[in-house]
Order: sequence, then structure tokens, then C-alpha cells
Amino acid sequence: MIDLRSDTVTQPSPAMREAMASAPVGDDVYGEDPTVNRLEAMAAQLLGKEAALFVPSGVMGNQLCIRLHTRPGDEVIVESTAHVIRYEGGSASSLSGVQLCCVLGTRGILSPEAVKAAIRPRDIHQPPTTLLCLEQTHNCGGGTIYPLPTIQALTEVAREHGMATHLDGARLFNAVVATGISAADYARHFDTVSFCLSKGLGAPVGSVIVSDRERIAKLRRLRKMFGGGMRQVGIMAAAGIYALEHNIDRLREDHEHAKRLAHLLADVPTVRIDPDAVHTNILLFHLTNTSRSTNEWIAACRNAGVLLNAVGDYTFRAVTHLDITADMIEKAGQILKQVFTSGPSNPSQA
Ligand SMILES: *Cc1c(COP(=O)(O)O)cnc(C)c1O
Repeated sequence: MIDLRSDTVTQPSPAMREAMASAPVGDDVYGEDPTVNRLEAMAAQLLGKEAALFVPSGVMGNQLCIRLHTRPGDEVIVESTAHVIRYEGGSASSLSGVQLCCVLGTRGILSPEAVKAAIRPRDIHQPPTTLLCLEQTHNCGGGTIYPLPTIQALTEVAREHGMATHLDGARLFNAVVATGISAADYARHFDTVSFCLSKGLGAPVGSVIVSDRERIAKLRRLRKMFGGGMRQVGIMAAAGIYALEHNIDRLREDHEHAKRLAHLLADVPTVRIDPDAVHTNILLFHLTNTSRSTNEWIAACRNAGVLLNAVGDYTFRAVTHLDITADMIEKAGQILKQVFTSGPSNPSQA
């Protein structure tokens, strides 16, 4: 089975497991886990911030930062297909009491004009707009890279209006590898940044938030409040350290694989895809001229040996990652071509 559903499906390698098994640990709620402390110091340095906080998931990383930057009744500006609105279970409204203002972007990328227009005047009738949250790379945009000048302009608009800024950098290192711009150069524009260790970097668990010392201290308390205080979690942090040391540069292979798959799919008459729009390890493609449902197509692909996700009607997502080889991409291309051109005409066969 060639699993292209997500870059979260990776298995920890033997060497990563070794690093986990031999990690020195302590009680991290007391701040006494040397491996967690090492990971946090490493992450802070890599992103050019004063301090860092290891958290159990990317969702918790985003939600702790939303809580930190807002008060109940505030409004947060996000792009309309952001992870924060689509895939975090409504947690911003339930855990922080904020409402999300969805601004339409282009492949997930917001324009400074659109954001400026969405910021509400200070008026007792209206919710205060207190936070701008961006996503790098943009998942539902198709792994799109936020250009640095756009980030600069957007965060400047936010600051001019007294708003805080957060980057959901779940796949920040994919952007770093693709552009050659350092993580610190992206991070310097934001008050808080979170990134995932458990996506393309290949660790089994965890995300890291970076910020200044004062905000990280507040986030540490909020993490406890949200139930995310962990004990001898250096076992997990060791996997994160291993991932940062070994798995960043190789993300470029994932990008090459996604591009190659995009070119293979572009040859299929019923598939709509623009290989030039594939920036990183995520590719979106659209199926035309079909009477079968999206789920029937997903099942047909699964039966033929390829796992995909759908992100909308007839829009499919394939994600490359460190357990996908160049050979698997060629094979997946063949399989998908066959399914989409000749696939069983009777849906019940799916
Ligand atoms: C995966 C992801 C997250 C975090 O998800 P978790 O499953 O909680 O780790 C956050 N933002 C984006 C854009 C993501 O793709």
C-alpha cells in the first residue's frame, strides 16, 4: 500500500527509536527533563527566538497561542481554509471563546488589503480583532509557500492595528528547504510560531512553540491548564531532536516526489492539476467528467493500492513523506493513471 494520505503516517526509523530508548529523562512538569530542555533550546535557537515549549500536538500549539493572544469575545483573522478553522474541532471558540473571521485567500495566501479590510473598527458593537494567524506552508492551499514579503506586509498591518501575530508553521521546514530562507527569517515576523515534529520531520509525536521568554512562561502555565503537561516525555523529545538533526534537508526529496507525481497525473485526461503550483510535499488535483462520488474514487484508489485523502468534492490530496520512495511515486503514478482512466465503471466494484 502506498500511503499518500498525509505526512503524519511516517514510522519512526530504527535510529530514531534508538535515540528515544537511550534518552535521559526527568519530570518535565518540574522542568527537569534534560532531553526536553535540549529540544526546546535547539528549537529556540533554530528559529531565532528566546525560548520554546514542547507540546503534544500541533492543534495544542495553535490553541495555546490563540488563548495567549486573545480574550473571550475577541476575533481572530484566519484564511478561510486554514487548519485552525477546518481541522481543530472548533477549539478556538470552545477553549478560548473567540470567533474566527475567515478571509478568502489565493491558494491559502492572504493579501494585506483583504486583511486590512477585515480588521474591525474599535466600536463597542464589534468584536476587537486582536490576532492574525497565518499558516506556512498552507495545507489546504496545496502546500503553498507564503512569500516572505507577503508575511512582512501582513504582520506589519497586524502590528499597526495592535494585533498579535501567530504562525501555524506545521510545515515551516518544508518552506525553509524549498526557498532557502531560514526558519529564523520567517519566525522574526511573528510573536509566536509553532511547528510540527510529527509531519515530514518524521517524529511520532509533538510540536514546538517558540517565542520570547515571557510568553513561553505564560504558555507553559496554559499548557498545564489544557492538560498538556507531560512527565518523562524526553523519550518523545529525543525523537524530535533526531528529526531536527537528520530529517530537515531530506524534505527536498519529498518535494521532488510531489512534483514528479504532479507531472505523472497531469497526463491523465480527467485530472486537473498544475504542476507549477506544487511548491512542497502536498499536491491537490481535481477530477472532472465523473459520475462516481469522491468517496468511491478514494475506495477505488485504495483497492488499487494507493491511499489518498479528499479535501473537497472531487478534489484530492496526496502528500509525500519520508516513507515514500521514488519507485513508489512511479508506481503510484501508474496506478492512479489506470484508476482514473479505466477505473471500474460500476461504482459497486469500488
Ligand atoms: C497537521 C497540522 C496541524 C497540527 O495537527 P496535529 O495533528 O494536532 O499535530 C496544524 N496545522 C496544520 C497546517 C497542519 O497541517
